[in-house]
Amino acid sequence: MNETGPIFGAMLREFDRAARILKLDPGIWRILTYPKRQIVVSCPVLMDNGEIEVFRGYRVQYNITLGPAKGGIRYHPDVSLDEVTALAAWMTWKCAVAHVPFGGGKGGIVCDPTRMSAREIEALTRRYVAEIIDAIGPEKDVPAPDVNTNDQVMAWVMDTYSMHVGHTETAVVTGKPIEMGGSLGRREATGRGVMIVTREAAKHLGVNIKGATVAVQGFGNVGSVSAELLAAIGAKIVAVTDWKGGVINQAGLDVAKLLEYAATHKTVEGFPGGEPLDNEGLWGLDVDVLIPAALENQITMENAPKIRAKIIVEGANGPTTPDANNHLHDRGVFVVPDILANSGGVTASYFEWVQDRYGYFWTEREVNERLEAKMREAFRAVSATASKFAVDMRTAAYIVAIHRVATVTKIRGMCRGRSSWVMRSARS
Ligand code: GLU
Repeated sequence: MNETGPIFGAMLREFDRAARILKLDPGIWRILTYPKRQIVVSCPVLMDNGEIEVFRGYRVQYNITLGPAKGGIRYHPDVSLDEVTALAAWMTWKCAVAHVPFGGGKGGIVCDPTRMSAREIEALTRRYVAEIIDAIGPEKDVPAPDVNTNDQVMAWVMDTYSMHVGHTETAVVTGKPIEMGGSLGRREATGRGVMIVTREAAKHLGVNIKGATVAVQGFGNVGSVSAELLAAIGAKIVAVTDWKGGVINQAGLDVAKLLEYAATHKTVEGFPGGEPLDNEGLWGLDVDVLIPAALENQITMENAPKIRAKIIVEGANGPTTPDANNHLHDRGVFVVPDILANSGGVTASYFEWVQDRYGYFWTEREVNERLEAKMREAFRAVSATASKFAVDMRTAAYIVAIHRVATVTKIRGMCRGRSSWVMRSARS
């Protein structure tokens, strides 16, 4: 049986609903609800105080039907096998919705990087990579940044792997520094994708994005870039909260100044260009767009009834619980689900992987244009599916993803012959 818990359970509830509507073959259904591979490792690290600490690490390859496993590595005290398995499943559906040739994976280490030195983080990263080294590679499993990891951490992953195989292998990881095989536009890509789908959602609902009010939870890589790019197309960012506190200004926050402030203070709390706001206050704001861009399980039945936004765009992975999602849908809130909304990151990771393997690098403009086209196409496919089946956008995104993975599973041979179902869907 799967090692599961509440987060994976939430993923399964979303999956099951879509699989039922799709009338998914029961055998394929079974396959797609199990992680293919779950790796658990212990990473001893010599800390700066001379003590040895042992950190628990995970890498889960949920499904590799469409290509190498793909997904980030996060460093956080709350990391668990349940969480990493759910995130790896979400990566599977996300890559399928984005229509990139990857399966889904995720990694995590239980640690608090805010209390560790750069040397300790480097030692931990290298040890973790050494422990999972046989499972990763450009054709096998390609990690990327996630919560509390960045391009420097990816450089250490790439270097440790390259030393092991005896040559420089840039395509083993994405989200690298530009100087060593990273792609222009990758760092901003998740936030850029959030901006694009927000604009598409507004268009879909007849809301003018110019002057539309936006509240953002989280001001890390995803939240901050989303806010910056939405402000650049004329939206008004009225509120931002983060791990420590928040700030509100009904006239619109100066996002450039807020970015500068957050860079030095490591939080938006205390920003002089607005009034203080806490997370609880954020949910009830009368805004057009709400962007949860922090962690899972933020929008729950406790706060969902307070939400007044017309559109929710999930920059984070799994920010809305299934019950809260149903409640919001019943109330007519348009939720752009994580596996569509934040797929810009992995789409640009795909571009980076392609450029590394090709050895030829694109301009930032080329990356952004291709990202724009992929995101618009993904939004179109999901909203067309939502209309066709009369379902919410999350269920529709799952239907698109499951259909694509299931079709390839069947064609590759996991069935008693090529069923008429495959032949029909291959033509449609
Ligand atoms: N960590 C990001 C995500 O959750 C990016 C994954 C990747 O680029 O592989 O989508």
